[in-house]
Amino acid sequence: MGREWDDDILSMSTDLAVGDRSEHLVCPSCGGGDSGERSMLIYCTAEGLFYKCYRVKCSLKGKVGAMGYRPTTNKVRKPKLHTRMLDPEPLPDDVLDWWLDYFWWADEEMLMINGVLWSEPLERVLYPIKSLTGTHEGYLARLYDDLVLNESNLRGSKAKAYYNTLLKDYRLTCMMTPHMAQFEDYCVVVEDYPSALRINTEIPCVALSGTSVQEPTLMELVKGGKRKVCFVLDADATAKAAQIVYNYGLHFEHLTFVPLYGKDPKDMEDDDFKVLVTAIKEQLRI
Ligand SMILES: [Zn+2]
Repeated sequence: MGREWDDDILSMSTDLAVGDRSEHLVCPSCGGGDSGERSMLIYCTAEGLFYKCYRVKCSLKGKVGAMGYRPTTNKVRKPKLHTRMLDPEPLPDDVLDWWLDYFWWADEEMLMINGVLWSEPLERVLYPIKSLTGTHEGYLARLYDDLVLNESNLRGSKAKAYYNTLLKDYRLTCMMTPHMAQFEDYCVVVEDYPSALRINTEIPCVALSGTSVQEPTLMELVKGGKRKVCFVLDADATAKAAQIVYNYGLHFEHLTFVPLYGKDPKDMEDDDFKVLVTAIKEQLRI
C-alpha cells in the first residue's frame, strides 16, 4: 500500500489524541459506496495512525507513521487547516431555518451574537474557536448531512478545525467560548459547541475544541480565572474525569463532573435538560 491516502487520513484525524478512536468516517478511497456509508475508522496510537475501511469491497487499510501526525505528548496543538479555505459568510436563510428547527431551544440572536457562520465551499456550519479570554483563533467546521448538496463535501470527519494562523509553535486554545461565558469565575465544560450554547442560556459554559480533556485544557481554565469547574462528559469518560479531578483538583476551589448517560445536552428534551442544569448547579454550589 502506497502513501496515497496519508494526507486524507491526517486531515481526518487532527483532533485525535493517542488512545483515541475516530468516529465513523467516509473512506477517502471508496467514498463509502453509493450510500456514502461511514465505514472507516482511524485508531491513534503512539506508533501512528492505523486506518481501516470495513466495506468488504474496499478494505483499504494502512498506517501513517508516528512522524506523520501530531504527537499529543508535547502539548502543542499544531494547526493544519487555514480559515482562508472557508470563505465564511452569514448563515444563509435555508441553513438558519434548518439549524433553528434542529436545535429548537435556540434563537437567531444566539447564533448572531456568537458569530456562528457558514462556509458555502465546504457546506459546513462554522462555530468560532475562541479562548476563555476572548481571542478568536478560528472555526470548527461542522458537517450536517442534511445541509450538503455537493456530495464530495460529505467526505472527511464531521468536525474539522481551521485556524487564522498556522504558526508552528503557536499554542492554540482548547476552548470554544460562547459570548458571556468568560465573565464568571465558574463554568461548565462540555464536548460540543451547540451543547455549550444551550447550557450557556442558564450557566456559563464552554466547549472543548478537541475530543478529549487534556492538561492544556485544565491550564487554560486556571489561566482564565475559573475557580469552580464542572465537566459534563459521556458516562464512559467517567474514569478519565475522576483521574482529572484527582490530578488537578488542587488548582481549583472546586473541580467536579456530571456524567451523561443519555443524549447530549443539545439533544435533550426540555425536562431532562432542566434536571441536568439543576445537577450542575448543585455540583458547582451556585
Ligand atoms: Zn473504503
